[in-house]
Amino acid sequence: MASDTPQSASRSRRPFTEGLRRIVSARQGSRQTYDGGTREPLGRELVENADESGSGEHYFREALTLLPLATVMLDGRGLMAMVNPQAERLFGYEHDELVGKPVELLVHALRFDGHAPRWTDPLAMQQSPGLLPLDDLCARRKDDTEFRAEIDLSAFRFNGENVTLAFVIDKTDQYELHRQRQDFAHLTRVSTMGQLASSLAHELNQPLTAILSNVQAAQRFMTADPIDLAELRDILNDIVQDDYRASEVIRRIRAVVKKGDLEVIFLDLASVMRDVVALVHSDAIVRGMRVMLDIDMALPPVRGDRVQLQQVMLNLLLNAFDAMNEAPPVDRVVRITLKSAENGMVLIAVRDRGHGLTADKLDKIFKPFFTSKPQGLGLGLSISRSIIDMHRGRLWAENNNDRGATFYVALPAGDAAQEDKLR
Ligand code: ADP
Repeated sequence: MASDTPQSASRSRRPFTEGLRRIVSARQGSRQTYDGGTREPLGRELVENADESGSGEHYFREALTLLPLATVMLDGRGLMAMVNPQAERLFGYEHDELVGKPVELLVHALRFDGHAPRWTDPLAMQQSPGLLPLDDLCARRKDDTEFRAEIDLSAFRFNGENVTLAFVIDKTDQYELHRQRQDFAHLTRVSTMGQLASSLAHELNQPLTAILSNVQAAQRFMTADPIDLAELRDILNDIVQDDYRASEVIRRIRAVVKKGDLEVIFLDLASVMRDVVALVHSDAIVRGMRVMLDIDMALPPVRGDRVQLQQVMLNLLLNAFDAMNEAPPVDRVVRITLKSAENGMVLIAVRDRGHGLTADKLDKIFKPFFTSKPQGLGLGLSISRSIIDMHRGRLWAENNNDRGATFYVALPAGDAAQEDKLR
């Protein structure tokens, strides 16, 4: 491949030359020259020449060095035929250490093991229009450190061979940002659960106490002669029920405090909300709050992460309780409605009868660290809003006409959710 002219490139101009031309013409604006000297700026002509002139490979190599992206050209066996300086810098190798080596040295998932993966199959590549992006791959530097990368692959013919260009985009910053956002959300979730700790401990204590006294009763029955088997069976059934109650409390706690990657699936929001209401059940009793649930029977599924959506609902519900702390007992009611709305959305409304929001607060409350509570962090609503944004939904608040406030969450559902990826 090294010395031939890329005569076949007129067949191969798509999609590589398209992409290259776009990148190169973007750089044209900065009047870059291809050899750092005073020649004509690299532009359309050069790319055309790369396809058709006798010095195509030379121009091609020059073009690669000017690309702002780390770029590697692979031959049909997955060996690196050309590597630009940006790729050398990104991976910490010298040029000669890479040329002729398999690409899996840099990105293990791109290994070529004889079972041609899609990207080594020129036919498959030719059928896929434009670049074939591979998100979130693990790339390895020479010093063995790893980073997350997006690889855009583009197959074309060069010097009569099927080759593939791999553009490597370092996603470390985005990945780090995403991870920090997840950690932060987790931290506030754990802190919210801290508020519920004593009521949850109490709730857990109830079935445990019941189990203990049932076991003690069973021990007494066992000493009787004859043993009342029917009574024993009832006692054992009660123990099973109480055990189930305790493990449900633990399951709900674990579901909220668990730390993990986003898991985006189709969700029944009604069951997500019921779990949250069950979680605050004891807290509501202790604080004299009533929660009323009004759920549309034909609610379409929503695509999202269960834990994060639970976090939002939990936050709204506990805020509603806080807002009604000073309200007379009869007024301490939160009404939650879940219903289908226009444009394929599902609308959640959490309506309280608390102190409501002053006009200046309506906007401020979604800013980080805004709190009116002595022990508040002021992060719940800002994180809730970023979670809902990520789900391509909307979170907002309105004052009620009579008293209190209503917080609304609109989320894309059904087909609308299917088309969307999380942001
Ligand atoms: P925190 O609960 O730690 O204060 P949030 O971000 O959840 O943090 O809430 C920010 C502020 O928004 C609260 O301190 C409160 O002033 C206001 N707020 C939230 N929910 C309500 C509500 N239902 N009614 C009135 N004010 C509310």
